[in-house]
Amino acid sequence: MAVNRIPCGWCGKIARIDLTSKQWTVEIPDPETLMKFIGGRGLAGFYLRDHITLNWDDPDMPLLLFTGPLVNTPSPTSGRMTIMSRSPLTGTIGDCSVGGSLGVQLKSAGFDGIIITGKSDLPCGIEIEDHAIRFASAESVTGMSTSDACRIFKPKGAVAVTGPAAERGVLYSNVIIDGHYAAGRNGLGLVFASKKLKYITVRGTGKTGIYDSEELRRAKEDILRLVAASPAIMGHFGISRFGTGALYDLMDARCMMPTDNFRNSRFHCASSMNAVAYAKQYHPVKTGCRGCHIRCKKKNRDGIHIPEFETMSHFSALLGNCDMKTVIEANRICNDLGMDTISAAVTLACYAEITEKRLSPEQILRLLSETGTQKNPGRDLGVGAARMAQQHNRPEFAMAVKRQELPAYDPRGAYGMALAYAVSTRGACHLRAYPISHEILRKPVATDRFSFEGKARIIKINEDVNAVVDSLTVCKFVFFAATLEEYARVFSAVTGLQVYGQDLLKTGERICYLERMMNAQNGFGKADDDLPSRFFETPGYISPTKKNDPINRDRFMRALADYYTVRGLDENGMPVLSRAKELGLV
Ligand code: SF4
Repeated sequence: MAVNRIPCGWCGKIARIDLTSKQWTVEIPDPETLMKFIGGRGLAGFYLRDHITLNWDDPDMPLLLFTGPLVNTPSPTSGRMTIMSRSPLTGTIGDCSVGGSLGVQLKSAGFDGIIITGKSDLPCGIEIEDHAIRFASAESVTGMSTSDACRIFKPKGAVAVTGPAAERGVLYSNVIIDGHYAAGRNGLGLVFASKKLKYITVRGTGKTGIYDSEELRRAKEDILRLVAASPAIMGHFGISRFGTGALYDLMDARCMMPTDNFRNSRFHCASSMNAVAYAKQYHPVKTGCRGCHIRCKKKNRDGIHIPEFETMSHFSALLGNCDMKTVIEANRICNDLGMDTISAAVTLACYAEITEKRLSPEQILRLLSETGTQKNPGRDLGVGAARMAQQHNRPEFAMAVKRQELPAYDPRGAYGMALAYAVSTRGACHLRAYPISHEILRKPVATDRFSFEGKARIIKINEDVNAVVDSLTVCKFVFFAATLEEYARVFSAVTGLQVYGQDLLKTGERICYLERMMNAQNGFGKADDDLPSRFFETPGYISPTKKNDPINRDRFMRALADYYTVRGLDENGMPVLSRAKELGLV
């Protein structure tokens, strides 16, 4: 569809901010580009493309923060946004979808996105308010925890801040939004620090134009009805009531709980460390991202945050820890220092295996603090599991793909997840494709979790859907109930552009292919689309009634070849000109 003006939904303004000169300008995006990449992950990828071969700490490497057209409208779960750059941890494209209020405030302030380049001479902050941007000194908050810094800056609106871990060079440093929402994975906090950027605040009062408010209301009601009927979201044991920790028992029951650095996949303390146990102990209430009615985040009246499933699982089973308070405290330390909890826990588990130690709760917490502040022996852990294991000549102990540590689903219990980890464009990830939905939750259709049959196509479609979801900047959790068909209707109501679910899916395919093209430019190919050898050599769990055998490597390689075929890559996983042309990328 040809468009020659900025449609409703977008502000039509992108700020280019140069930290070297402390100057900023406004760019008006091409409407055709908005149609092709939408916003969030897609649009940020479009602007990253020409710079992807630069080192992550090159001043010219852009740091991109992008919202989408549904943000700051009543569209369900649309208060999210993307932060993107090249990853210090993996060297691939690095991005994260994050909640909180930053996306809504940025849009209200009049910007679809900001592109930050250059490097400040001194620690600085960027303060955005209603179409205006100013630069401020951050020297007084250098070295400060993310919670303290967020408290100071809260009066200025939404806050994105890095912690001491980023300032000290931890490769899995993250960015904390509004004191709690983590833009984790990939080490994007370190890109902030490389530019001497400590924080961004944003406040806006503007409204986002909506093409047809009445149609948006009807489309929204349809989605809310689907969400209300979803057991996974609103059911008695769903994520609205228990948070993502609702998955904890299920993963253990399916022998998929990564335990002792993935040497086992069942955890003997699971029944006393699940989400119900946290609820009994801490009595949390619901909280969540701006404008979301699901409110899957949990915190109690004393301000204690209940960890997400990945954190809950990795700081218990993965480290053999049966103390709930240690998990809560590990989560707090990681957030305060600004470190990704998944990478921190997997790196600790790798360290425990290398040193042949079982870490006590005190050792877990001390090592985490030392990692974030880069004191010995925690200093070694700031490079992540893959580099640390390599330094100790035990690369087989690093549970990582493309140097990014694995989330909390043991791939020997769900072969689609095995393939998804391997081919993800940002290293091991459960958010690029989430075949757990089919293989474990049995939605929208059940598949055999111990088979690769049909998985290549499922992963490809999952990836395409999630790429467009991250570009509309809505929440993936709502897709346990809704589909792109409902969101196409929302998109059309907001923008006035008639699209269907299949159009959005094609956009997702374009975004994924562009990411493969960018990674290929940095040399990523078939050798990187692989899993740690442990998963092909040793079983996860075996008992008289249940077993998770090692994955058959030949079948995995055949599934990988199938994936390359359906994704339109060559036999080495590299992009081909004809598919790139077909998708409008060259
Ligand atoms: S479901 Fe949870 S993560 Fe998703 S938008 Fe709502 S509060 Fe945020």
